[in-house]
Amino acid sequence: MTGSRATTCLMAQRRTDRLSLCVAPAMTRTSNHHAVIIGASVAGLFTARVLADHFTIVTVLDRDDLPEGGTARKGAPQGRHAHALLAAGQRTLMELFPGIADELLADGATLINFNEGRWYQAGGYRSKINKKRAAISASRPLLEHHLRRRVAALPNVQIRSSVAVDGLLYDGRRVRGVQVCEDGTLSGITGDLVVDCSGRSSRASAWMEQIGYPTPKVDHVKCEQVYSTRIFRRSPSDMDATFAITIESPADGKRAAFVVPIEGDRWIVTLGDRFTAPITDEATFQAFALGLPAPEAGHVVTRAEALTPVMNHRMTSSQRRRYEKLRRVPAGFVTLGDAICSFNPIYGQGMSSSALQAVALGRAVARHGIADTELPKGFYRQAAKVIDSPWKIAVGADFAYPETTGPKPIGTNLVNRYMARVLMAALGPVPALLYRRRPQGRPSGRAPDERRAGGAARTGRRGVTPPRFHAGSPTSGVDISA
Ligand SMILES: Cc1cc2nc3c(=O)[nH]c(=O)nc-3n(C[C@H](O)[C@H](O)[C@H](O)COP(=O)(O)OP(=O)(O)OC[C@H]3O[C@@H](n4cnc5c(N)ncnc54)[C@H](O)[C@@H]3O)c2cc1C
Repeated sequence: MTGSRATTCLMAQRRTDRLSLCVAPAMTRTSNHHAVIIGASVAGLFTARVLADHFTIVTVLDRDDLPEGGTARKGAPQGRHAHALLAAGQRTLMELFPGIADELLADGATLINFNEGRWYQAGGYRSKINKKRAAISASRPLLEHHLRRRVAALPNVQIRSSVAVDGLLYDGRRVRGVQVCEDGTLSGITGDLVVDCSGRSSRASAWMEQIGYPTPKVDHVKCEQVYSTRIFRRSPSDMDATFAITIESPADGKRAAFVVPIEGDRWIVTLGDRFTAPITDEATFQAFALGLPAPEAGHVVTRAEALTPVMNHRMTSSQRRRYEKLRRVPAGFVTLGDAICSFNPIYGQGMSSSALQAVALGRAVARHGIADTELPKGFYRQAAKVIDSPWKIAVGADFAYPETTGPKPIGTNLVNRYMARVLMAALGPVPALLYRRRPQGRPSGRAPDERRAGGAARTGRRGVTPPRFHAGSPTSGVDISA
């Protein structure tokens, strides 16, 4: 929204206070006529697809001027960084949008095979696997563009750009729609169910408070995750793999790198770090990549032509709003996606969690109908189940770093010790040259394949201490779906 539009809408705010009273209870509907979704990002688009099966009309509103193609946009700034879709998210994507994989591939995405990548973690490379596992690799804006295109093609769905939602319409009994600001003018859009998919900065709590409902408790687990990303022209000579992931071992190792092919014969190189400032200049970006314990990111940033400056993102905490614990919630309104829970992005869980929450919402609508508070309550219970495991994984993993603060899930230390052994057991042989060059991350002073050969890595016996890894190490399932 432009400054002048924002001002105009602000000036009209007083009128909208009256707007909520204008929606007469006589408009009560028991049929699923109109669903209104706030936010046309990944959560909003999955939700629109699911609700299109349950409502006569679905309207998706986004305050951004949504682009025609797969380009990054202001309202989803994370689109500038590498995104991976976990196996569950990928499966849900294929089920809800049959044929979308082919469409993405035709538009330049790459099918990456797990065995053709280099995955360095726990002091060594992951071994090859017998099972064929592949994933679609594309930029986040391209994925979003194809989702948007498919959703917009549904006959009963309309996506509206440049419409900012400012509050809820409430008739004293249930939410009846949203108040919106469009072209500097305030108006109301009525709906039988409003779904807030406006992301981490969702104002749903404040809106609920305005209409007399309690607001959810918010859990924050401080992670201070920073991302720095550049895009490079891709050529097979840049590195000897189709993708590369490098992750240092906690608690001392905080750095990570993701080198992933994206459309247009490009690499997206995202460097991650914690409890520090993001990289802003090209020289530091290159030095960081070259200083990692595996060489692939360094190869790409030194060999390939850079196409963008360094772009960065900082996330201070994983954030979870506990809607499922509220005793009173308004009928006709739910929140979903990052608006409920935004994870430390390094674990790659947000899009998959949103997809699974959208499916859960469809089931809740089918089960409870939309008439009363059974729908939001039932949905929040199911959404909490979707979120619980990835939340424990992500924040549990973050607690491998002593700087992490916040509510620590029960059992975190036990799971982390177990996962340390699993990760060590997943290591395979690595080029000897690499280990001569990179002593870092070798607690025993031997290459990981040697440690494995001794059996200690698999079992944790004979005094070998596995690095302090954890269930949520960023690799847990990253986009290498079955
Ligand atoms: C740096 C980074 C990297 C990430 N990497 C991964 C990854 O690898 N894998 C993964 O699965 N997830 C990843 N995520 C998380 C992922 O991007 C989100 O979980 C996903 O986009 C779903 O979020 P959402 O749709 O709920 O919200 P968002 O993506 O934040 O979208 C919110 C939408 O709502 C719109 N909006 C906001 N307010 C209003 C309003 N008042 N009115 C109208 N519209 C509004 C915005 O314009 C936007 O389009 C990453 C996140 C970050 C920050």
